[in-house]
Amino acid sequence: MLVNILTSDSGLLKTIAKGSRRLKSPLRGKLELLNYGALVYYPSRTSDLHILSQFDIINSFPEALNTLERSAFFHYLAELSSLAAYGEEGSGALFNLLLQMLGDAPDIDAIIPARLWFEIRYLHLLGVFPSFDRCSHCGGPLGDGVKFALKKPGWICARCRGQVSDTIDIEPGVMAIISYILRNSLNQVMKLKLSRRQSALLDRLLSYLVDTAAHKKIKSKRFLNHILGGGI
Ligand SMILES: [Zn+2]
Repeated sequence: MLVNILTSDSGLLKTIAKGSRRLKSPLRGKLELLNYGALVYYPSRTSDLHILSQFDIINSFPEALNTLERSAFFHYLAELSSLAAYGEEGSGALFNLLLQMLGDAPDIDAIIPARLWFEIRYLHLLGVFPSFDRCSHCGGPLGDGVKFALKKPGWICARCRGQVSDTIDIEPGVMAIISYILRNSLNQVMKLKLSRRQSALLDRLLSYLVDTAAHKKIKSKRFLNHILGGGI
């Protein structure tokens, strides 16, 4: 069986778990999605597919999968994390973000703000929101009339608007919400009440940025949107 494992120091590790479905295999039943544990593997010298020999579960986070909404949500977070962390150095922060979210799973009663909380941090770790008080083009203060650059993501001041292509207008409220979410705990963000318009604007912006950052179609996203959009 092929098993992709997100690690704190080696990005996404592709492994082969030989015989893991056999009754007597020490790996049997341990390689379910979202299991967190300690592993032993033999690195391959010739390919990026390594041999997994041992996996000991530290926590299996049953609350992350105990409702359809949470399950769809955590499948999405796992896929996002693995897409960003593939072969990357310094994937520890992304790993910790996912681990923190898994630990908070029992408290997640509102998926939409929890998703905003995760996606904004995820994008921030990937360098998408470099600063909330400096223009990412000239480095000057932002002031009024801020735009967001999509190609090389960042906030753009009114003075630089003409010099940067592929920008979109940003309502001041939306930038403040992103900054608020980045500064506050998941519990606080889950209490946040957004207007329908703010939600739609944020959703469109984050969806575009997440797709661009992942460089790939995110399979679990469609299912999550389907669930959040009103069930099956
Ligand atoms: Zn500027």
